[in-house]
Amino acid sequence: MSDNHYDYIFAGGGAAALSLLVRMQQEGILRDKKVLVIDKDKKEHNDRTWCFWEEKEGLFESCVVKTWDKIRFASPGYDAKLNPQPYQYKMIRSQGFYQYCNQIISQNSHIHFVQDMILNFENNAVVTTDGRYTGNIIFNSSIQYLDKDESRYHYFLQHFKGKFIETEQPFFEEGVATLMDFTIDQHNECRFMYILPVSKTKALIEFTIFSENLLEKEEYETELNNYIDEKLKYHAYKVTEEEFGVIPMYNQPFIKKINPHVFNIGTNGGASKASTGFTFHFIQEESKQLIAHLKKHPTLSNYNPKSKGRFQFYDDVFLRVLREKKVPAFYLFNCMFRKLPAYLPLKFLSEETSMLEDLKILRVFPTMVFMKAAIGELLKQPVRRAE
Ligand SMILES: Cc1cc2nc3c(=O)[nH]c(=O)nc-3n(C[C@H](O)[C@H](O)[C@H](O)COP(=O)(O)OP(=O)(O)OC[C@H]3O[C@@H](n4cnc5c(N)ncnc54)[C@H](O)[C@@H]3O)c2cc1C
Repeated sequence: MSDNHYDYIFAGGGAAALSLLVRMQQEGILRDKKVLVIDKDKKEHNDRTWCFWEEKEGLFESCVVKTWDKIRFASPGYDAKLNPQPYQYKMIRSQGFYQYCNQIISQNSHIHFVQDMILNFENNAVVTTDGRYTGNIIFNSSIQYLDKDESRYHYFLQHFKGKFIETEQPFFEEGVATLMDFTIDQHNECRFMYILPVSKTKALIEFTIFSENLLEKEEYETELNNYIDEKLKYHAYKVTEEEFGVIPMYNQPFIKKINPHVFNIGTNGGASKASTGFTFHFIQEESKQLIAHLKKHPTLSNYNPKSKGRFQFYDDVFLRVLREKKVPAFYLFNCMFRKLPAYLPLKFLSEETSMLEDLKILRVFPTMVFMKAAIGELLKQPVRRAE
């Protein structure tokens, strides 16, 4: 066997690849296997912050830097601190996550890391700037393959700019994570602020938008600064870190298999939820499914990921409602968080509710708007936007 041949290759070594690799290692699937991770970056720095809700302790519990037992939801005329039990809201900083995973890689001599730029895939080979590596199974989270079909699907983006700020005096309510504060100018879009206090004097504040196009760079900056100055009314602070991100909110099914050897995972494999952009939870679910299959079968040739079922349709309808703009976007989230116990919208957005629970949730939305959008989706009618 050639030196450049591996049992498993992870093409891209971010959240999805490392989550899967760590689980495979822990489940003994990588025993006696030759494994390669290829990434253009060394993954040593904080390049993002993941937040998600979870009922129990997860595989990456030791990487969690902060948990919250209360979440806040605010919209015009409503502001509430809610109890999301049995869920806890959690934060993982990517640097801690990468360190934890890289330690597992460096402790196992059969797992190799190469820093290189992936150019394309040829059958069972990964072609990079500096080489060519072949593998029995290749997990791709690097290059995205998606032919958009604008006539059939909705392509929203979740885009955001965040700042970690440190205040001189204790200012933040440490036990409460503001999931969504919609009390900002909506510009006929879906715009909210996200406040994650890691202590009384330090918080990540993020300006987030769900829309079809990105903003000019300065606009994120202005909105964020205005919010801190005018809404939070705090001036004596310093910015310690910044992050910017774009997450696809596409309802087009992502390609799972490029060829019998190459499988897309993570955002490239469709793990980002179309209606919210939440991904971390779905990456963990994807890893569990892949592991369950690999424990029984040596290849992925007959692997069929679990269908999203009715949750796909809910996302389709939700994105159509967002595009049609017949009701303000914040109103939809308001309906859920105002009228239901907080755990229920979270469970629904994690795609874990029963049919009975779905009915309770669907009842709170404006019936005619959703009925029309559902019919529009079923008949694939063109989107009719309210002006
Ligand atoms: C700033 C930010 C914050 C986020 N916060 C949250 C959150 O709070 N909650 C949540 O659920 N989701 C969040 N997400 C969405 C999602 O969880 C992350 O994007 C997550 O990292 C996706 O995992 P992934 O493995 O698919 O992609 P990535 O983690 O981006 O990994 C892909 C890897 O491929 C490498 N790569 C790409 N192209 C090449 C190439 N040609 N050659 C070699 N290597 C390549 C990249 O360097 C990267 O390491 C966030 C996303 C961003 C960008």
